[in-house]
Amino acid sequence: MKLAARVGEVTPSLTLAIAATAKAMKAEGIDVCSFSAGEPDFDTPAHIKAAAAKALEAGKTKYGPVAGEPQLRAAIAKKLQTDNGLNYAAENVLVTNGGKHSLYNLMMVLLNPGDEVIIPAPYWLSYPEMVRLADAVPVILPTTEETGYKITPDQLRSACTSKTRLLVLNSPSNPTGMVYSPAEIRAIAEVVVEKDILVVSDEIYEKLLYDGAEHVSIGSFGPEIFARTLISNGFAKAYSMTGWRLGYLAGPLEIIKAANTLQSHSTSNICTFAQYGAIAALESSQDCVEEMRTAFADRRRFILDRLAAIPGLTCPKPDGAFYVFPNISKSGLKSLEFCKQLLENQQVAAIPGIAFGADDCIRLSYATDMATIEKGIDRLDKFMRQYI
Ligand SMILES: *Cc1c(COP(=O)(O)O)cnc(C)c1O
Repeated sequence: MKLAARVGEVTPSLTLAIAATAKAMKAEGIDVCSFSAGEPDFDTPAHIKAAAAKALEAGKTKYGPVAGEPQLRAAIAKKLQTDNGLNYAAENVLVTNGGKHSLYNLMMVLLNPGDEVIIPAPYWLSYPEMVRLADAVPVILPTTEETGYKITPDQLRSACTSKTRLLVLNSPSNPTGMVYSPAEIRAIAEVVVEKDILVVSDEIYEKLLYDGAEHVSIGSFGPEIFARTLISNGFAKAYSMTGWRLGYLAGPLEIIKAANTLQSHSTSNICTFAQYGAIAALESSQDCVEEMRTAFADRRRFILDRLAAIPGLTCPKPDGAFYVFPNISKSGLKSLEFCKQLLENQQVAAIPGIAFGADDCIRLSYATDMATIEKGIDRLDKFMRQYI
């Protein structure tokens, strides 16, 4: 079968594959400790589920406006104003099938063949693939443990060419958990304006911050950067709504309108009654978000303390999301082999850093219960000691 060239250039998601293998092993009765999850382990808060159930009962079962229910778009615009200092109207917001879809829509309406998109590494693995699917060119900017896995303004400046259209910024980051400080974000904003490129800020983990870390939206530093900013966000991580498929893209009207047209010919509106769950999420108390964050904070503290005691591992302290990204290079193994052996010999599932452009590291998600973390880290400790 001859397939389109564009799919030949793209690799399937390695994280989903490992998570699936771990799940299959569990189903066979094998005692697997999985750190592979890219989603919160909590159920969706009850009041959000109730709002969607009520909408379903009330007959919110028909096609709706492609860009989303007006009440939801307005609630998102209000959230972006109050939480993030971004002055968007409801018409600047497009409701999408998750943050992934909002980023995909953006790449498809923005990029021409040969356009360059700057992606700091380690990166969320879908960014470069989406850029390739849009026939554009991902330009990867490497970072190191020493710089806290952050790019510098100079590094960004020298990566810009006449073909650069877009920078992808993800803070707090998946996979490293690092958070850019407000001053660092401001310095990057200055380069974006100076080079007259666009930036998409993937803020899906903005609510998951620890030890006093602060999230600032890059578009909030004034009109010049605001005009060059797109925000991708969603309900998956903050409200534990991964399966609902609810996200949004916000930005300049011209881009949002084009993405709306694209969406009108691809997915149409997002599940109508699900959108009422999202309205409840935004308009009700945010206590549920804080409860989940507190649970993550306890696990983070625990896993960092335990990892620090494993010989040969180094792990910078992440201030956000629910991942740690230890360096495993002292084992002498590359990340894929490390994760394969770890799963086979110790029944611990972790994601190889190579999936995120960092072959010396592995990603451990602590979006799992404390008992699993404890047992899994014991096993990782044992595994690592074989090599040291
Ligand atoms: C989870 C995630 C998303 C969005 O996920 P959706 O389920 O599509 O909303 C976007 N970016 C990053 C970095 C993520 O980890």
